[in-house]
Amino acid sequence: MNTIAMLINGESTQAGNGATFERRNPLDGQVATVAPAATVADALNAVEAAAAAFPAWSAKGPGERRALLTKAAHAIESMGDAFAAAMAAEIGASGLWAGFNVHLAANILLEAAALTTQIGGETIPSDVPGNLALGVRQPAGVVLGMAPWNAPVILGVRAIAVPLACGNTVVLKGSELCPATHGLIVKAMQEAGLPKGVVNFVTNAPADAGTLVEAMIAHKAVRRVNFTGSTQVGKIIATHCAKYLKPVVLELGGKAPLLVLEDADLDAAVSAAAFGAFANSGQICMSTERIIVDKKIADEFVRRLVVKAQSLPLGDPRLGPVVLGSVVDKRTVERCNALIDDALAKGATLLCGGKADNTLMAATLLDRVTSSMKIYGDESFGPVKGIVRVDGDEEAIACANDNEYGLSSAVFSRDTARAMRVAARIESGICHINGPTVHDEPQMPFGGVKGSGIGHFGGKAGIDAFTDLRWITIQTTPRAYPF
Ligand code: NAD
Repeated sequence: MNTIAMLINGESTQAGNGATFERRNPLDGQVATVAPAATVADALNAVEAAAAAFPAWSAKGPGERRALLTKAAHAIESMGDAFAAAMAAEIGASGLWAGFNVHLAANILLEAAALTTQIGGETIPSDVPGNLALGVRQPAGVVLGMAPWNAPVILGVRAIAVPLACGNTVVLKGSELCPATHGLIVKAMQEAGLPKGVVNFVTNAPADAGTLVEAMIAHKAVRRVNFTGSTQVGKIIATHCAKYLKPVVLELGGKAPLLVLEDADLDAAVSAAAFGAFANSGQICMSTERIIVDKKIADEFVRRLVVKAQSLPLGDPRLGPVVLGSVVDKRTVERCNALIDDALAKGATLLCGGKADNTLMAATLLDRVTSSMKIYGDESFGPVKGIVRVDGDEEAIACANDNEYGLSSAVFSRDTARAMRVAARIESGICHINGPTVHDEPQMPFGGVKGSGIGHFGGKAGIDAFTDLRWITIQTTPRAYPF
């Protein structure tokens, strides 16, 4: 069992009233972590610490911020074993997934470090004689970042990396399901030597999330909010941000379609579909949730995909390497079991896997999914994925768009121009031609449309999100006035 602390103004801090909450291992129910259950006053202290640190941090040159973020990247990388142990204990994740998390999170920090010298501006032609007009990007202030448990290192780091690079100070609200894993990120930041108050970390009991989050969003020092999580909670955050007029980046749920056109390279499509559907047991926002296959090649595609899915090792990640570890909780098992029951009752065919009675869920594929089944539209966020057979490209596109989400997507075809035409018509923020729906790199404009969210974290789009664009003029000659 691991007892952790929050970080407020550089100090390891317990809740003001001493309250704590537990996170239990999803497989054996043992307490994995005991974490502080912050009060509203604790959360506001964190915001105030960040506000106090803002003037000095925002005044630092890019070289200094770059050096510290680079050190933080190396610190994250050096803590790979600790992250793997915390992720296995708190969320049941495989070592493979933990390793990928650490690697990408370190790269997100390196990319953020590089962005420090890319926070450019522009000169804008002015009609006022002798007037030099500038568009200048400045740090916004305190950024509140909220990250989920499913890719905890990647998404915890993403919530703070570009905001820090831009000269903002941050409060990271950890997930109730992986407080120790998120705490390790903050430890890496401290080891790198970020000044006190620049990064603050708050943990809360699940029942307190709503009150705490609204109090922090309402605080006048909080100038930007970012949230990665479900669409349902994202809408609550958006409502608070509207009430207090705070700009927000929302990265929400997904139901990524992978389209296999009749001329696809089937082996390539099978590899991408299996990886996209079952990496981290399907608990990724970009997971391949709908496999949309042209009926002319569907039988052969399905045959090969089932062989691949059945070969994926499943087990307790603490005992050795697996592809599918434990899913995060019993709720996931119940949700996935209900999706399977509903689909089978309405005529789907179970190809492999099936219902589970514990959190070790096998790779499960349901064929002949139709729009009447819940799995057609609902995010499974587990290793249970549906196959929809369609007749031609138009039907494939219509099926891909027949959904409330729009994060990632993929199209497989040997004819790139045809795939491009299809990709252009898919309503999603991200589309990969002949690649998996699960693909993330720090410099890319990652983000969704429709129910999948608003805004972007990566690259230059991240700079736009976490800075204020100001218009500054310099009058270089005497100015004429009408009176
Ligand atoms: P969740 O929305 O259930 O929980 C996220 C956070 O919301 C928690 O930390 C919780 O404290 C907070 N919260 C809960 N109730 C709240 C309230 N009333 N007010 C304010 N905050 C509240 O999501 P989750 O289960 O942790 O994550 C899974 C979801 O995240 C999936 O839908 C997945 O697709 C999505 N996701 C999206 C991305 C992306 O980049 N688009 C990445 C990963 C996960």
